[in-house]
Amino acid sequence: MDPNQLWQSALSEIELQVSKPNFVTWLKNSRLIERQDGVALVSLPNNFAKEWVENKYNKIILAAIRNLDETTKKIEFVVESQQNSLTKLRSRAQVKKVFLDQQSFSEWRVDPQTNLNPRYSLSSFVVGSSNELAYAAAQGVIKDVGKKYNPLFIYGGVGLGKTHLMQGLGNEIKNLYDNKIKVKYVSSEAFTSEVVAGMRNKRMEDIKEKYRLIDVLIIDDIQFIEGKEKTEEEFFHTFNALYENNKQIIISSDRPPHFLPTLQERLRSRFEGGMISKLDQPDFELRMAVLKTKLQDKESSLPDNIISLIATKVQKNFRELEGVLNRILFYQNTKNTDITLKSAEEIINEATQQPIKNINPNQVIKGVADHFEISIADLISPSRKKNLVEPRQIAIYLLRDILDLSYPSIGEKLGNRDHTTAIYAFSKLSKEIIKNQVLNHQILTIKDKILKV
Ligand code: ADP
Ligand code: MG
Repeated sequence: MDPNQLWQSALSEIELQVSKPNFVTWLKNSRLIERQDGVALVSLPNNFAKEWVENKYNKIILAAIRNLDETTKKIEFVVESQQNSLTKLRSRAQVKKVFLDQQSFSEWRVDPQTNLNPRYSLSSFVVGSSNELAYAAAQGVIKDVGKKYNPLFIYGGVGLGKTHLMQGLGNEIKNLYDNKIKVKYVSSEAFTSEVVAGMRNKRMEDIKEKYRLIDVLIIDDIQFIEGKEKTEEEFFHTFNALYENNKQIIISSDRPPHFLPTLQERLRSRFEGGMISKLDQPDFELRMAVLKTKLQDKESSLPDNIISLIATKVQKNFRELEGVLNRILFYQNTKNTDITLKSAEEIINEATQQPIKNINPNQVIKGVADHFEISIADLISPSRKKNLVEPRQIAIYLLRDILDLSYPSIGEKLGNRDHTTAIYAFSKLSKEIIKNQVLNHQILTIKDKILKV
Protein backbone atom coordinates (compact mmCIF):
# COMPACT_ATOMS: atom_id res chain seq x y z
CA MET A 1 0.00 0.00 0.00
CA ASP A 2 1.42 3.41 -0.80
CA PRO A 3 1.98 5.64 2.24
CA ASN A 4 -0.79 8.00 1.30
CA GLN A 5 -3.42 5.29 1.03
CA LEU A 6 -2.23 3.64 4.19
CA TRP A 7 -2.40 6.92 6.05
CA GLN A 8 -5.90 7.73 4.81
CA SER A 9 -7.14 4.36 6.06
CA ALA A 10 -5.33 4.77 9.36
CA LEU A 11 -6.77 8.26 9.79
CA SER A 12 -10.31 7.06 9.30
CA GLU A 13 -9.77 4.66 12.16
CA ILE A 14 -8.01 7.25 14.34
CA GLU A 15 -10.89 9.65 13.71
CA LEU A 16 -13.21 7.31 15.57
CA GLN A 17 -11.06 7.45 18.69
CA VAL A 18 -10.29 11.15 18.90
CA SER A 19 -12.77 13.95 19.45
CA LYS A 20 -13.73 15.87 16.37
CA PRO A 21 -12.12 19.20 17.31
CA ASN A 22 -8.91 17.45 18.27
CA PHE A 23 -8.85 15.51 15.06
CA VAL A 24 -9.36 18.63 12.97
CA THR A 25 -6.85 20.69 14.92
CA TRP A 26 -4.06 18.19 15.20
CA LEU A 27 -4.33 15.50 12.60
CA LYS A 28 -6.05 16.86 9.55
CA ASN A 29 -2.89 18.22 8.01
CA SER A 30 -0.72 15.26 8.82
CA ARG A 31 0.97 13.03 6.30
CA LEU A 32 2.74 9.72 6.25
CA ILE A 33 6.06 10.37 4.56
CA GLU A 34 7.41 6.85 4.42
CA ARG A 35 7.92 3.53 6.17
CA GLN A 36 11.32 2.07 6.52
CA ASP A 37 12.86 -0.51 8.84
CA GLY A 38 9.68 -0.74 10.88
CA VAL A 39 9.51 3.02 11.45
CA ALA A 40 6.67 5.08 10.05
CA LEU A 41 7.55 8.72 9.60
CA VAL A 42 4.59 11.05 10.10
CA SER A 43 4.76 14.75 9.37
CA LEU A 44 2.82 17.49 11.11
CA PRO A 45 2.51 21.14 10.12
CA ASN A 46 4.16 22.74 13.15
CA ASN A 47 5.96 22.13 16.41
CA PHE A 48 2.85 22.49 18.53
CA ALA A 49 1.05 19.82 16.58
CA LYS A 50 4.09 17.57 16.64
CA GLU A 51 4.53 17.71 20.41
CA TRP A 52 0.83 17.35 21.01
CA VAL A 53 0.32 14.38 18.72
CA GLU A 54 3.50 12.72 19.92
CA ASN A 55 2.35 12.93 23.54
CA LYS A 56 -1.31 12.17 23.12
CA TYR A 57 -1.85 10.05 20.07
CA ASN A 58 1.29 8.04 19.57
CA LYS A 59 -0.33 4.82 20.77
CA ILE A 60 -3.56 5.24 18.85
CA ILE A 61 -1.66 6.00 15.66
CA LEU A 62 0.68 3.07 16.09
CA ALA A 63 -2.24 0.71 16.68
CA ALA A 64 -4.12 2.02 13.67
CA ILE A 65 -1.13 1.60 11.38
CA ARG A 66 -0.26 -1.81 12.74
CA ASN A 67 -3.79 -2.95 11.98
CA LEU A 68 -3.04 -2.28 8.35
CA ASP A 69 0.64 -3.08 8.29
CA GLU A 70 2.13 -5.31 10.93
CA THR A 71 5.74 -4.57 10.03
CA THR A 72 5.51 -1.10 11.55
CA LYS A 73 6.98 -1.06 15.05
CA LYS A 74 7.36 2.59 15.78
CA ILE A 75 6.13 6.01 14.74
CA GLU A 76 8.35 9.02 14.45
CA PHE A 77 7.12 12.53 13.96
CA VAL A 78 8.61 15.44 12.09
CA VAL A 79 7.54 18.98 11.39
CA GLU A 80 6.86 19.78 7.78
CA SER A 81 6.07 23.41 7.33
CA GLN A 82 5.19 24.88 3.97
CA GLN A 83 8.30 27.00 3.81
CA ASN A 84 10.62 24.19 4.72
CA SER A 85 9.08 21.23 3.04
CA LEU A 86 10.73 18.02 4.09
CA THR A 87 9.34 16.25 1.05
CA LYS A 88 12.26 17.73 -0.78
CA LEU A 89 14.61 15.77 1.37
CA ARG A 90 15.26 12.45 -0.18
CA SER A 91 16.64 10.14 2.43
CA ARG A 92 15.33 9.38 5.85
CA ALA A 93 18.72 10.23 7.30
CA GLN A 94 18.29 13.78 6.13
CA VAL A 95 14.83 14.00 7.55
CA LYS A 96 16.11 12.60 10.79
CA LYS A 97 18.79 15.23 11.00
CA VAL A 98 16.29 18.05 10.67
CA PHE A 99 14.19 16.31 13.26
CA LEU A 100 17.08 16.07 15.69
CA ASP A 101 18.08 19.67 15.15
CA GLN A 102 14.58 20.74 16.01
CA GLN A 103 14.64 18.64 19.10
CA SER A 104 17.91 19.89 20.39
CA PHE A 105 16.64 23.37 19.77
CA SER A 106 13.56 22.93 21.89
CA GLU A 107 14.78 20.62 24.61
CA TRP A 108 17.41 22.05 26.84
CA ARG A 109 18.88 19.88 29.43
CA VAL A 110 19.09 20.90 33.05
CA ASP A 111 22.48 20.03 34.49
CA PRO A 112 21.73 17.68 37.41
CA GLN A 113 24.83 18.77 39.33
CA THR A 114 24.00 22.44 39.37
CA ASN A 115 20.28 22.43 38.46
CA LEU A 116 21.14 25.09 35.93
CA ASN A 117 19.26 25.21 32.65
CA PRO A 118 21.52 26.33 29.79
CA ARG A 119 18.49 27.99 28.19
CA TYR A 120 19.08 30.89 30.54
CA SER A 121 22.14 32.95 29.85
CA LEU A 122 23.21 36.45 30.67
CA SER A 123 23.75 37.14 27.00
CA SER A 124 20.08 36.47 26.31
CA PHE A 125 19.02 38.69 29.21
CA VAL A 126 18.01 41.94 27.57
CA VAL A 127 18.93 44.97 29.66
CA GLY A 128 16.88 48.15 29.98
CA SER A 129 16.21 50.79 32.60
CA SER A 130 14.00 48.52 34.71
CA ASN A 131 16.61 45.83 35.23
CA GLU A 132 20.00 47.44 34.63
CA LEU A 133 20.88 47.77 38.31
CA ALA A 134 20.13 44.13 39.02
CA TYR A 135 22.10 43.19 35.93
CA ALA A 136 25.03 45.32 37.05
CA ALA A 137 24.94 43.65 40.47
CA ALA A 138 25.07 40.27 38.74
CA GLN A 139 28.10 41.42 36.78
CA GLY A 140 29.65 42.59 40.04
CA VAL A 141 29.21 39.13 41.51
CA ILE A 142 30.99 37.56 38.55
CA LYS A 143 34.03 39.78 39.01
CA ASP A 144 34.36 39.09 42.67
CA VAL A 145 32.53 35.91 43.56
CA GLY A 146 31.67 35.72 47.25
CA LYS A 147 33.08 39.11 48.18
CA LYS A 148 31.56 42.31 46.98
CA TYR A 149 27.84 41.73 46.60
CA ASN A 150 27.16 39.07 49.15
CA PRO A 151 24.45 38.03 49.61
CA LEU A 152 22.84 39.32 46.44
CA PHE A 153 19.11 39.66 46.95
CA ILE A 154 17.02 40.16 43.80
CA TYR A 155 13.34 40.89 44.07
CA GLY A 156 10.45 41.73 41.78
CA GLY A 157 7.01 40.55 40.69
CA VAL A 158 6.20 37.45 38.73
CA GLY A 159 7.68 37.19 35.27
CA LEU A 160 10.14 40.06 35.59
CA GLY A 161 13.22 37.90 35.09
CA LYS A 162 14.43 36.78 38.52
CA THR A 163 14.91 33.16 37.59
CA HIS A 164 16.42 34.05 34.23
CA LEU A 165 18.90 36.46 35.76
CA MET A 166 19.98 34.12 38.55
CA GLN A 167 20.23 31.07 36.35
CA GLY A 168 22.10 33.09 33.75
CA LEU A 169 24.46 34.30 36.42
CA GLY A 170 25.00 30.74 37.65
CA ASN A 171 25.73 29.53 34.13
CA GLU A 172 28.15 32.36 33.53
CA ILE A 173 30.11 31.64 36.71
CA LYS A 174 30.15 27.93 35.95
CA ASN A 175 31.48 28.46 32.44
CA LEU A 176 33.87 31.25 33.25
CA TYR A 177 35.53 29.35 36.05
CA ASP A 178 35.48 26.12 34.16
CA ASN A 179 33.40 24.31 36.77
CA LYS A 180 36.05 25.00 39.43
CA ILE A 181 33.56 27.06 41.36
CA LYS A 182 30.71 24.82 42.44
CA VAL A 183 27.37 26.41 41.67
CA LYS A 184 24.03 25.11 42.90
CA TYR A 185 20.61 26.43 42.03
CA VAL A 186 17.66 25.36 44.12
CA SER A 187 14.08 26.54 44.32
CA SER A 188 13.00 27.14 47.86
CA GLU A 189 10.32 24.46 47.47
CA ALA A 190 12.98 21.95 46.50
CA PHE A 191 15.13 23.06 49.41
CA THR A 192 12.16 22.66 51.74
CA SER A 193 11.35 19.16 50.51
CA GLU A 194 14.97 18.19 50.91
CA VAL A 195 15.03 19.40 54.50
CA VAL A 196 11.72 17.72 55.30
CA ALA A 197 12.90 14.42 53.80
CA GLY A 198 16.25 14.77 55.57
CA MET A 199 14.56 15.13 58.91
CA ARG A 200 12.27 12.22 58.25
CA ASN A 201 15.12 9.92 57.22
CA LYS A 202 17.53 11.30 59.80
CA ARG A 203 19.93 12.34 57.05
CA MET A 204 20.28 15.98 57.91
CA GLU A 205 24.04 15.59 58.25
CA ASP A 206 24.34 14.51 54.60
CA ILE A 207 22.37 17.50 53.47
CA LYS A 208 24.45 19.87 55.57
CA GLU A 209 27.61 18.37 54.18
CA LYS A 210 26.38 18.67 50.64
CA TYR A 211 25.48 22.33 50.93
CA ARG A 212 28.67 23.25 52.68
CA LEU A 213 30.70 22.08 49.70
CA ILE A 214 29.00 24.60 47.45
CA ASP A 215 30.70 27.84 46.43
CA VAL A 216 27.73 29.65 44.94
CA LEU A 217 24.29 28.89 46.32
CA ILE A 218 21.31 30.26 44.42
CA ILE A 219 17.94 30.06 46.12
CA ASP A 220 14.89 31.04 44.08
CA ASP A 221 11.63 32.39 45.48
CA ILE A 222 12.64 32.54 49.12
CA GLN A 223 9.18 33.82 50.03
CA PHE A 224 7.99 30.22 49.88
CA ILE A 225 10.08 29.12 52.85
CA GLU A 226 8.71 31.93 54.90
CA GLY A 227 7.05 30.59 58.02
CA LYS A 228 8.36 27.05 57.65
CA GLU A 229 10.39 27.02 60.80
CA LYS A 230 12.55 23.97 60.33
CA THR A 231 13.43 24.90 56.78
CA GLU A 232 14.23 28.45 57.80
CA GLU A 233 16.40 27.21 60.59
CA GLU A 234 18.29 24.91 58.29
CA PHE A 235 18.63 27.57 55.67
CA PHE A 236 19.95 29.98 58.27
CA HIS A 237 22.68 27.56 59.32
CA THR A 238 23.61 26.78 55.75
CA PHE A 239 23.61 30.46 54.98
CA ASN A 240 25.92 31.28 57.87
CA ALA A 241 28.28 28.43 57.18
CA LEU A 242 28.65 29.50 53.56
CA TYR A 243 28.77 33.19 54.29
CA GLU A 244 31.50 32.85 56.87
CA ASN A 245 33.58 30.98 54.33
CA ASN A 246 33.15 33.75 51.75
CA LYS A 247 30.88 31.66 49.61
CA GLN A 248 28.49 33.52 47.36
CA ILE A 249 24.77 33.47 48.12
CA ILE A 250 22.16 34.69 45.63
CA ILE A 251 18.52 34.89 46.61
CA SER A 252 15.33 35.92 44.88
CA SER A 253 11.98 36.86 46.26
CA ASP A 254 8.78 38.43 45.04
CA ARG A 255 9.19 41.23 47.59
CA PRO A 256 11.96 43.02 49.51
CA PRO A 257 13.31 41.48 52.75
CA HIS A 258 11.38 43.78 55.07
CA PHE A 259 8.12 42.58 53.50
CA LEU A 260 8.82 39.01 54.44
CA PRO A 261 7.23 39.44 57.85
CA THR A 262 7.43 35.99 59.33
CA LEU A 263 10.97 35.38 58.16
CA GLN A 264 13.20 35.13 61.17
CA GLU A 265 14.59 38.50 62.04
CA ARG A 266 18.18 37.29 61.97
CA LEU A 267 17.77 35.91 58.45
CA ARG A 268 16.16 39.09 57.24
CA SER A 269 18.90 41.28 58.61
CA ARG A 270 21.47 39.06 56.91
CA PHE A 271 19.77 39.75 53.60
CA GLU A 272 19.63 43.44 54.31
CA GLY A 273 23.35 43.45 54.98
CA GLY A 274 24.15 42.52 51.39
CA MET A 275 23.21 43.94 48.02
CA ILE A 276 19.51 44.34 47.28
CA SER A 277 18.36 44.87 43.68
CA LYS A 278 14.92 45.31 42.31
CA LEU A 279 13.47 44.26 38.97
CA ASP A 280 10.83 46.74 37.83
CA GLN A 281 8.19 46.48 35.16
CA PRO A 282 9.77 46.85 31.74
CA ASP A 283 9.17 50.01 29.70
CA PHE A 284 8.07 50.01 26.07
CA GLU A 285 11.59 50.00 24.70
CA LEU A 286 12.61 46.97 26.69
CA ARG A 287 9.40 45.14 25.81
CA MET A 288 10.15 45.74 22.12
CA ALA A 289 13.71 44.52 22.52
CA VAL A 290 12.67 41.38 24.35
CA LEU A 291 10.00 40.57 21.77
CA LYS A 292 12.55 40.87 19.00
CA THR A 293 15.00 38.63 20.84
CA LYS A 294 12.34 36.00 21.49
CA LEU A 295 11.34 36.03 17.83
CA GLN A 296 14.93 35.42 16.88
CA ASP A 297 15.19 32.55 19.35
CA LYS A 298 12.09 31.01 17.90
CA GLU A 299 13.37 31.59 14.38
CA SER A 300 10.14 33.34 13.56
CA SER A 301 9.21 36.78 12.40
CA LEU A 302 6.33 39.23 12.62
CA PRO A 303 5.76 42.58 10.95
CA ASP A 304 7.00 45.58 12.92
CA ASN A 305 3.55 47.04 13.44
CA ILE A 306 2.40 43.82 15.11
CA ILE A 307 5.46 43.71 17.36
CA SER A 308 4.90 47.25 18.51
CA LEU A 309 1.21 46.58 19.04
CA ILE A 310 2.10 43.74 21.39
CA ALA A 311 4.70 45.85 23.18
CA THR A 312 2.19 48.67 23.58
CA LYS A 313 -0.63 46.59 24.95
CA VAL A 314 1.10 43.92 27.00
CA GLN A 315 2.83 45.70 29.82
CA LYS A 316 2.75 43.60 32.91
CA ASN A 317 5.76 41.35 32.62
CA PHE A 318 7.90 39.29 30.28
CA ARG A 319 5.99 36.14 30.94
CA GLU A 320 2.73 37.65 29.76
CA LEU A 321 4.58 39.17 26.83
CA GLU A 322 5.92 35.81 25.79
CA GLY A 323 2.53 34.17 26.33
CA VAL A 324 0.89 36.62 23.94
CA LEU A 325 3.69 36.23 21.44
CA ASN A 326 3.25 32.45 21.52
CA ARG A 327 -0.46 32.77 20.90
CA ILE A 328 0.09 35.03 17.94
CA LEU A 329 2.75 32.78 16.44
CA PHE A 330 0.53 29.79 17.02
CA TYR A 331 -2.31 31.48 15.19
CA GLN A 332 0.00 32.39 12.35
CA ASN A 333 1.39 28.87 12.09
CA THR A 334 -1.94 27.13 12.07
CA LYS A 335 -3.57 29.53 9.64
CA ASN A 336 -0.43 29.71 7.56
CA THR A 337 -1.01 33.35 6.71
CA ASP A 338 0.40 36.57 8.01
CA ILE A 339 -1.59 37.84 10.91
CA THR A 340 -3.53 41.08 10.53
CA LEU A 341 -3.47 43.92 13.03
CA LYS A 342 -7.09 43.28 13.82
CA SER A 343 -6.66 39.59 14.67
CA ALA A 344 -3.52 40.39 16.65
CA GLU A 345 -5.49 42.89 18.66
CA GLU A 346 -8.22 40.37 19.34
CA ILE A 347 -5.71 37.81 20.53
CA ILE A 348 -4.03 40.35 22.78
CA ASN A 349 -7.32 41.47 24.29
CA GLU A 350 -8.34 37.94 24.94
CA ALA A 351 -5.02 37.02 26.50
CA THR A 352 -4.75 40.04 28.75
CA GLN A 353 -8.40 40.15 29.73
CA GLN A 354 -8.96 40.99 33.36
CA PRO A 355 -10.42 38.12 35.34
CA ILE A 356 -14.17 38.05 35.05
CA LYS A 357 -15.40 38.69 38.52
CA ASN A 358 -18.39 36.41 38.66
CA ILE A 359 -16.48 33.25 37.89
CA ASN A 360 -16.33 31.06 40.96
CA PRO A 361 -13.89 28.31 41.94
CA ASN A 362 -16.38 25.56 41.17
CA GLN A 363 -16.64 26.73 37.59
CA VAL A 364 -12.89 26.55 37.24
CA ILE A 365 -12.80 23.04 38.71
CA LYS A 366 -15.67 21.94 36.50
CA GLY A 367 -14.02 23.45 33.43
CA VAL A 368 -10.86 21.43 34.04
CA ALA A 369 -12.77 18.22 34.81
CA ASP A 370 -14.87 18.64 31.66
CA HIS A 371 -11.86 19.27 29.51
CA PHE A 372 -10.20 16.05 30.64
CA GLU A 373 -13.48 14.17 30.65
CA ILE A 374 -13.16 13.11 34.27
CA SER A 375 -15.58 13.63 37.14
CA ILE A 376 -15.18 16.40 39.69
CA ALA A 377 -15.18 13.73 42.39
CA ASP A 378 -12.16 12.07 40.79
CA LEU A 379 -10.43 15.38 40.27
CA ILE A 380 -10.59 16.26 43.95
CA SER A 381 -10.16 12.70 45.22
CA PRO A 382 -7.02 11.60 47.09
CA SER A 383 -6.02 9.32 44.18
CA ARG A 384 -2.51 9.91 42.82
CA LYS A 385 -3.17 8.30 39.44
CA LYS A 386 -1.27 10.08 36.72
CA ASN A 387 -4.37 10.82 34.66
CA LEU A 388 -5.79 12.68 37.67
CA VAL A 389 -2.65 14.34 38.99
CA GLU A 390 -2.05 16.33 35.83
CA PRO A 391 -5.58 17.78 35.58
CA ARG A 392 -5.48 18.48 39.31
CA GLN A 393 -2.29 20.49 38.96
CA ILE A 394 -3.83 22.41 36.10
CA ALA A 395 -6.88 23.13 38.25
CA ILE A 396 -4.59 24.47 40.96
CA TYR A 397 -2.75 26.58 38.45
CA LEU A 398 -5.95 28.04 37.03
CA LEU A 399 -7.56 28.72 40.42
CA ARG A 400 -4.58 30.88 41.18
CA ASP A 401 -4.16 32.31 37.70
CA ILE A 402 -7.80 33.23 37.07
CA LEU A 403 -9.09 33.94 40.57
CA ASP A 404 -5.92 34.70 42.48
CA LEU A 405 -7.15 32.39 45.24
CA SER A 406 -4.87 31.89 48.23
CA TYR A 407 -2.98 28.59 48.47
CA PRO A 408 -4.82 27.36 51.56
CA SER A 409 -8.21 27.95 49.96
CA ILE A 410 -7.09 26.26 46.74
CA GLY A 411 -6.07 23.27 48.85
CA GLU A 412 -9.41 23.31 50.58
CA LYS A 413 -11.41 23.49 47.32
CA LEU A 414 -9.51 20.55 45.91
CA GLY A 415 -10.48 17.94 48.46
CA ASN A 416 -8.92 19.52 51.55
CA ARG A 417 -5.35 19.25 50.41
CA ASP A 418 -2.48 20.87 52.20
CA HIS A 419 -1.55 24.34 50.94
CA THR A 420 1.97 23.16 50.14
CA THR A 421 0.52 20.90 47.44
CA ALA A 422 -1.04 23.97 45.85
CA ILE A 423 2.21 25.94 46.10
CA TYR A 424 4.15 23.09 44.58
CA ALA A 425 1.75 22.56 41.68
CA PHE A 426 1.45 26.23 40.89
CA SER A 427 5.15 26.89 40.83
CA LYS A 428 5.84 23.69 38.90
CA LEU A 429 3.36 24.57 36.18
CA SER A 430 4.41 28.21 36.09
CA LYS A 431 7.86 27.00 35.19
CA GLU A 432 6.76 24.29 32.85
CA ILE A 433 4.50 26.37 30.67
CA ILE A 434 7.42 28.54 29.70
CA LYS A 435 9.29 25.56 28.36
CA ASN A 436 6.49 23.34 27.20
CA GLN A 437 4.46 24.91 24.41
CA VAL A 438 1.97 22.08 24.32
CA LEU A 439 1.15 22.43 27.98
CA ASN A 440 1.01 26.18 27.55
CA HIS A 441 -1.46 25.84 24.73
CA GLN A 442 -3.52 23.29 26.61
CA ILE A 443 -3.84 25.55 29.64
CA LEU A 444 -4.76 28.53 27.48
CA THR A 445 -7.44 26.46 25.80
CA ILE A 446 -8.99 25.40 29.10
CA LYS A 447 -8.78 28.92 30.42
CA ASP A 448 -10.53 30.29 27.36
CA LYS A 449 -13.29 27.73 27.75
CA ILE A 450 -13.80 28.63 31.40
CA LEU A 451 -13.80 32.37 30.75
CA LYS A 452 -16.27 32.05 27.89
CA VAL A 453 -18.89 30.21 29.93
P1 ADP B 1 10.45 35.39 37.36
O1 ADP B 1 11.40 34.33 37.85
O2 ADP B 1 10.79 36.75 37.88
O3 ADP B 1 9.03 35.05 37.60
P2 ADP B 1 11.43 34.59 34.78
O4 ADP B 1 12.89 34.71 35.00
O5 ADP B 1 10.87 33.23 34.83
O6 ADP B 1 10.64 35.52 35.80
O7 ADP B 1 11.06 35.29 33.41
C1 ADP B 1 9.87 35.05 32.69
C2 ADP B 1 10.18 34.89 31.22
O8 ADP B 1 10.65 36.12 30.69
C3 ADP B 1 11.27 33.88 30.94
O9 ADP B 1 10.96 33.20 29.75
C4 ADP B 1 12.52 34.71 30.76
O10 ADP B 1 13.45 34.07 29.91
C5 ADP B 1 11.96 35.97 30.15
N1 ADP B 1 12.74 37.15 30.54
C6 ADP B 1 12.68 37.79 31.73
N2 ADP B 1 13.52 38.83 31.76
C7 ADP B 1 14.11 38.87 30.55
C8 ADP B 1 15.08 39.74 29.95
N3 ADP B 1 15.59 40.78 30.58
N4 ADP B 1 15.46 39.46 28.68
C9 ADP B 1 14.94 38.42 28.02
N5 ADP B 1 14.04 37.57 28.52
C10 ADP B 1 13.62 37.79 29.77
MG1 MG C 1 11.03 32.58 38.88
